[in-house]
Amino acid sequence: MRAHAWGEPHIAITRAAVEALPAPSRAAWGDELDRIAAGHCTLPDRVYGDADAARFAAMPGRPGVTYIRGLHVPDPQPECHEVLRCFLGRAVDALAEGRTADAARWAGTLVHALEDWSCPAHSVPDDNMFTRFKQFMPPPPDYRFVPLHSPVEKGSFAVDIRGHEPRLLGLSADEAAFHLLHRANLGILAARARVIPILVALYAHDTNAVIAAQRPAAETGARLAADALHTIACLATKRIPPGAEDGFRTADLAPRIPLESVALAVPQEAFFSRPHWGHATPGVALQGGTNEVPLALRIDDGGSPAVRTFATGIGTGTRCSMTFPVPPGVYRSFEAWAGLHATLGTNGSVVFEVLGDGRSLARVGPVAGTNAARRIAAEIGGVTNLQLVTTSGGGDGYGNHAVWADPRLVK
Ligand SMILES: [Zn+2]
Repeated sequence: MRAHAWGEPHIAITRAAVEALPAPSRAAWGDELDRIAAGHCTLPDRVYGDADAARFAAMPGRPGVTYIRGLHVPDPQPECHEVLRCFLGRAVDALAEGRTADAARWAGTLVHALEDWSCPAHSVPDDNMFTRFKQFMPPPPDYRFVPLHSPVEKGSFAVDIRGHEPRLLGLSADEAAFHLLHRANLGILAARARVIPILVALYAHDTNAVIAAQRPAAETGARLAADALHTIACLATKRIPPGAEDGFRTADLAPRIPLESVALAVPQEAFFSRPHWGHATPGVALQGGTNEVPLALRIDDGGSPAVRTFATGIGTGTRCSMTFPVPPGVYRSFEAWAGLHATLGTNGSVVFEVLGDGRSLARVGPVAGTNAARRIAAEIGGVTNLQLVTTSGGGDGYGNHAVWADPRLVK
């Protein structure tokens, strides 16, 4: 499937990204920065008939594949992660070795993918041409036979991310790819939120409204591209801002989207029925399955157990599994508090288990609703998939408001 997202807008988006870079990052890229914006950012769209372009949009893990679909539409998370690791890593290595022209081409492929993934026209899973979407949202007669991909993404709009300060995404290419994967996922979700506004505007022939609906997605793409180009420059020149190490000592797993969320949405098969019909939710527990309650656990750290509220964590039920791709070798351990919600879970009983690539790394419980929460720490050295599993410890399950509080990867 050919999917030429954005087309000309790739250049506008990448130019906005390039202009946002701080002076030291611009200096690291030198003259190549202009070439990334003016040409390399469309490199994966030119792989047929341009052998040089094809070389820089190829992946060692996909030998013989000229047109890599995952550089244009978001594949499942593990494939996206592989794309980010591959092109970010190659760009960092080439730039560090002084092969700046090569680095710029690898980086062009990377920003192309980030921009395509966050493009609304590419954000509807398995419906790049909107043939199914049209069934849900029947078009007026003049759009009846028009494939909607191109109208959804085409437009001449200015991309402006002034004020955006590009962020370092990690202290190594692998760590940066891990954080970039989460950011890209959020970009895909943001793009999906633009699809209906764009179609409503298109159907109404309101060009200004189409552009207004497209622009936020393009700006998301530009911010992703800016952060990627900045990170490559920082890592290649070993220019790590003071204090950055502290910020990267741990990584919060709670906001990340687990692999069970196929195409970034929770399928019905992943729902649990205890303590209520639903699925895991970051940041809150759900009383009755709908009313949000702050995450709270009974914590015993030496004194008498006290209820502590957590700003980050996951409220879930039992028979729930969440699998997160993690970069092997970057983090030493996984740590969290695991227990029953201090007020909703007093009648519950839950077993908490952490698995790495299918192997049990830590298991606690059954934890009863009246017990203090347990501290979990598991060594995760070479693990690529970290799985958090909750199962019932007995009883009717209606009190099984399980909480993974402050779940972190720790270096
Ligand atoms: Zn593309």
